[in-house]
Amino acid sequence: MTTPMFSLEVFPPKRNAPVGTIYDTLDGLEGLKPDFISVTYGHGTASDRTATARIAHTIRTEYGIPTVAHLTALYSDHEVIDHALEMFDEAGVQAVLALRGDYLPDQEPVGAFPHASDLVAYIREKRPDLKIFGACYPEGHYQAESLDEDIANLKKKVDAGASHLISQLFYDDDDFYRFLDKARAAGIDVPIEAGIMPVRGAKSVRRMAERNASRIPAKLNRILDKWADNPEALRAAGINYASDQITDLVAHGVDGIHLYTMNHPGGTRRIWQNVGCLFAR
Ligand code: FAD
Repeated sequence: MTTPMFSLEVFPPKRNAPVGTIYDTLDGLEGLKPDFISVTYGHGTASDRTATARIAHTIRTEYGIPTVAHLTALYSDHEVIDHALEMFDEAGVQAVLALRGDYLPDQEPVGAFPHASDLVAYIREKRPDLKIFGACYPEGHYQAESLDEDIANLKKKVDAGASHLISQLFYDDDDFYRFLDKARAAGIDVPIEAGIMPVRGAKSVRRMAERNASRIPAKLNRILDKWADNPEALRAAGINYASDQITDLVAHGVDGIHLYTMNHPGGTRRIWQNVGCLFAR
């Protein structure tokens, strides 16, 4: 039996937060044994590039953990992407997670890379040796007409050169298994990590579910209602819910688990205490 991968995601501190807060997050994650930590990326400004590259470099050199740098396409031209790739090279990243990004209100995209697959193809040509990751959506991307259409588009991304996929968060493992069956049937045979985001606040879960057009199962709805006004109880229930999801996914033999830490190491550590032994090598 092969051991599934275990990876984490962090984001650069918000603009008005001291850059050093990332050390609090990374120190808090010490002792966990992720295969890699991925670092998110903004919409393509110079400071987005610097922040992602700098944090990826810190994770690799100061914490000894391989890193994956996210990179978004919509608001970038070829020059911006070239610059980002140079910075990621210098940071020694293990792979780039090539994303389209979301449309910003009142801002026209550049038009160089309309879909993530266009960015994947460009990176593949520029950097044949660099590993390229892509995103996928167990419930279908919110702009796709159907899950089947989204999976057909996902196949284009894999054919363009994405050799590893990380999923959007989801709260019902059955949605992931349905997606996985369809993706495999469509000929997508690269590793697919399941993205898990522990619940922290009822409002944020509902907001995110609406934005991503994702479903909140009845079991989770009851938890959100019951402890909406008790943050400590809700966080504890969220940790148990995420731990149960991970246990079932690992029992089903998934390729890996990608935990969205939201830069909250405390909750991540508690989940690791519950499920870390499932990833023992
Ligand atoms: P795409 O793969 O381009 O898909 C977007 C839509 O276009 C889908 O509906 C798809 O079906 C359709 N489509 C794709 N290819 C084609 C095609 N060739 N022809 C026609 N239609 C097509 N956002 C950030 O800004 N920064 C981040 O760091 C970040 N990290 C993320 C990490 C993960 C694991 C995930 C799941 C998402 C992340 N996002 C991030 C959010 C992401 O940018 C959005 O979900 C975005 O709306 C879609 O990005 P994508 O790369 O999946 O796009």
